[in-house]
Amino acid sequence: MDMLHLNSPAEAERWCSEQRDLRKAIGFVPTMGSLHKGHLSLVDRACQENDACCVSIFINPLQFEDPEDFKAYPRDTESDLAQLKAHGCDMVFMGNLNQFFPEVSDGDEIETLPAGHHGAGLEERFRPGHLDGVRTIVERLFRTVGRSRVYFGEKDFQQTLVVSDLAREIGYPEVVVCPTVREDSGLALSSRNVLLDAEEKSQAQLIYPALLAAYDAWSTGERDPEILSAAMIKHLDHDGLMVEYAEVRDPYNWTPQLPVTPLERAQALIAVRIGSVRLIDNLRLDQ
Ligand code: AMP
Repeated sequence: MDMLHLNSPAEAERWCSEQRDLRKAIGFVPTMGSLHKGHLSLVDRACQENDACCVSIFINPLQFEDPEDFKAYPRDTESDLAQLKAHGCDMVFMGNLNQFFPEVSDGDEIETLPAGHHGAGLEERFRPGHLDGVRTIVERLFRTVGRSRVYFGEKDFQQTLVVSDLAREIGYPEVVVCPTVREDSGLALSSRNVLLDAEEKSQAQLIYPALLAAYDAWSTGERDPEILSAAMIKHLDHDGLMVEYAEVRDPYNWTPQLPVTPLERAQALIAVRIGSVRLIDNLRLDQ
């Protein structure tokens, strides 16, 4: 079957509803395009675990607090469509803000909805409003696709918590969180990696060893959040690399600040800026 390419959420909603009428289970992968093997791992899983697989490509302006970052965000629709087709995607849809928010008149600001409990701290501290913007568009995407399984990457860990809250709130879809795909060096694949020059890339390759340093400390019995954080920061000490955060959280007991008591479970999370590029990554320590 040829891949269907739809240019509006309304058409996508109709297609999804037809699939459900045909008793087909839908797997959905929301993306901002510029697809790499990380995205494609989600698409492969959505295709394997469902009867019909759909992908959205939409660079959501509501989640960019910096207009320059929005402008610089990589775009490559032609390559995206070719890769999706090769991976067996059945339908890809795009759209613009007006189409996603038809009730908002042209020129009026779209009000974002609060990301909620898991939106507090870390990303919120350094990208205020970002997760609110994510929550707001993801709700529209969930309502467009309807009952389905939706696939998110663990690379954006705090985002997985926020969208899982949202899915629980509206009663669907089933959220499936998939492992982070990395380069051989350990660097997590990201659409933003293409914006790094060779020197910046070698700095970006310090992120994963920093997460592993926390993992090693945890494995030898370290449970103090401050010491785990310090173990990561030591590895990130490099000119040109600016650490926004390198902290641990209990993934089931989210706190906006670094916890003060020893942890029973821990997710190590890092955000850095290298030149104009911001990168995030994380690793579960207790598994
Ligand atoms: P984005 O296009 O950056 O919004 O990402 C779309 C989806 O792909 C999100 O659920 C991301 O978490 C996921 N994703 C991005 N990079 C990776 C990666 N390296 N491994 C697995 N999933 C990823």
